[in-house]
Amino acid sequence: MQQPEPQSFERVLSSMCTEPHPAARAAAERFLASNPGDPATYETIGTLETRAVEGLATLTDHPDPADAAGYVTAGGTEANIQAVRSARNRHTTDDVSVVAPESVHFSFHKAASLLDVELRTVPLDDDYRAVPDAVAAAADESTALVVGVAGSTEYGRVDPIPALSEVASAVGARFHVDAAWGGFVLPFTDHAWSFADAAVDTLTIDPHKFGQAPVPAGGLLAREDAALDALAVDTPYLETRSQATLTGTRSGAGVAGTVAALDALWPDGYRSAARRAIENARWLASALADRGYDVVEPTLPLVAAAVPTPTFERLRERGWRVSRTGAGELRVVCMPHVTRSVLRAFLDDLDRVRG
Ligand SMILES: *Cc1c(COP(=O)(O)O)cnc(C)c1O
Repeated sequence: MQQPEPQSFERVLSSMCTEPHPAARAAAERFLASNPGDPATYETIGTLETRAVEGLATLTDHPDPADAAGYVTAGGTEANIQAVRSARNRHTTDDVSVVAPESVHFSFHKAASLLDVELRTVPLDDDYRAVPDAVAAAADESTALVVGVAGSTEYGRVDPIPALSEVASAVGARFHVDAAWGGFVLPFTDHAWSFADAAVDTLTIDPHKFGQAPVPAGGLLAREDAALDALAVDTPYLETRSQATLTGTRSGAGVAGTVAALDALWPDGYRSAARRAIENARWLASALADRGYDVVEPTLPLVAAAVPTPTFERLRERGWRVSRTGAGELRVVCMPHVTRSVLRAFLDDLDRVRG
């Protein structure tokens, strides 16, 4: 029987994941059968997870990277669910709400449903960013968590993180930054987004996106240990006393792959990947504007443009993996595998198929 082949990344323009770094791929394979959920049994992967958290904490300007609270999650979804759960568990009212901009990732809707909290989403400004006054108006004493997005999934926008953190502290809520996708690009930009830029309590950053680690590797970080302590349950049959993660058995591949990717790429490799991606996004945006399409100017490496549905469908037929925003625009995520020559080939096909 023929071996099934994974998809090639050559025409994948819709994904927030990318080809893992070769060192990360090799490390992942070596630790495939290690379980960081049981670090007293699998000691090496436990040590590697400490290194992964330190690396992610360094990248996000945590005040104490060597001792930062956090862990490698299955992805941004788990990290966001856990941030909501932690804030809920630490909040004092019976009814609990979370206030977030409308651009918030759908994982927060899962979190709200799982955790029985009310998710209040607030309309954006003209540039798809959260409006601090509107967030403040939606928050009250039931609000356990305010969320800011640093690199939104649809348009790559960065919310005004310092202003949102002030809104959170004014109502006695915790503040979470979702940098699942943007986290490995933002250190090389002027945006305010990190633990150093605002009173951020918890933060999501995914190595399996721009971090070039293998799937599954997400990250949850917290300023204080208490945020993770609020998630811990007793673990009677393990040698470690308690567990703060959502899943039990976890991927050693994701943890080892994260450490290997960080060792290989932080900071120079990530810096050049981020700069290349942003340049590619700007280049694509202007090429699409030249063709008469309405383009949402990129801030991070994500381009959206109003391409008519028949054209979009013909691109899909030609094997281009493109997706659409909720409003129907073509959306191209300029991940590291999306090189300039890939984009040239894409535009050539676009010119062939557009009416
Ligand atoms: C991708 C993404 C998520 C979800 O992460 P998964 O790894 O797919 O679970 C959450 N928030 C943002 C902003 C994302 O881009």
